[in-house]
Amino acid sequence: MKRSLKPMFALLLCLTTMSVSAQKKENKYILVIHGGAGTITRANMSAEKEVAYRAALTLALQKGYDALKAGKTSLDAVEAAIHVMEDSPLFNAGKGAVFTHDGRNEMDASLMDGKTLMAGAVAGVTTIKNPISAARAVMEKSEHVMMVGPGAEAFAKQAGLEIVDPSYFYTKERWDGLQKAIKEDSTKAVLDHGSKKSMKLGTINKDYKFGTVGAVALDQAGNLAAGTSTGGMTNKKYGRVGDSPIIGAGTYANNETAGISCTGWGEFYIRNVVAHDISAMMEYKQLSVADAAKAVLDKVGKMGGDGGLIALDKKGHVTMPFNTEGMYRGTVTADGKIEVLIYK
Ligand code: ASP
Repeated sequence: MKRSLKPMFALLLCLTTMSVSAQKKENKYILVIHGGAGTITRANMSAEKEVAYRAALTLALQKGYDALKAGKTSLDAVEAAIHVMEDSPLFNAGKGAVFTHDGRNEMDASLMDGKTLMAGAVAGVTTIKNPISAARAVMEKSEHVMMVGPGAEAFAKQAGLEIVDPSYFYTKERWDGLQKAIKEDSTKAVLDHGSKKSMKLGTINKDYKFGTVGAVALDQAGNLAAGTSTGGMTNKKYGRVGDSPIIGAGTYANNETAGISCTGWGEFYIRNVVAHDISAMMEYKQLSVADAAKAVLDKVGKMGGDGGLIALDKKGHVTMPFNTEGMYRGTVTADGKIEVLIYK
């Protein structure tokens, strides 16, 4: 009797352990997004606008969550969430991107895979409906990391991505934003979503408060990915490229540390190599993702730059710091719980 029970007991134990570890694995997937940081205060926000932003952010989280729940990769989740925000005129990415000084929409995007450290980026593109997908195509279908301008557009077309007339990206609000910026100081580029510091410098109107979009995900297999997409800064000089498409500045992902997507005054993020610096601090100094992100954002602030970022480590710890009044941001966890935040 004793003998015959043994294998059964072993099988039971094995099954229990398997189901616990499967549960654990499934439980940790998570998605974090941002829709830009800036002068976003309750006083500046109408009730309808707030409802619209919350709905768009919730939809982006839901789409990314659906991908993760279905067992798709973190890259799929990041791309799905960013698509929603690129397609929404509310955000400074894809439809609704800000205008350059000469009245064009020149967009930048990047994506990185934390498992393989493969990355892709496009900059200064004007006809690709979803620049984040072009960044992914560069990563997966070319031997390069970054492509710019007409070359990137030709490549995206060849990769089967949707190409649109540049007029698709037009919104009246962004056009008016450009006219306002030119009137205030035609030589200065302004952050779409404003900042106290740059307002003090007289370069920003408090109405500029919408921004770049980004997402970071951890999938069921435990892999991280991060992506960022933007129209850049209103009234930027034609050809100007910000931090968003620069791997290590606006975007970085490494399974050993974290996935990071930034938003803010791009020049400061490039000079501080923000996203990679956070990963490096975690790797070399064993800082937590929250401490590393805070330390790096403090450096940006001391130098005179502002903005925010989202970061997610390999264990699913999230941090979403910013040194502006607000940042559109949100998370969705494996249980499907969606949280959307806007203000401090
Ligand atoms: N970081 C972006 C850029 O400088 C702007 C933003 O985050 O809104 O291009």
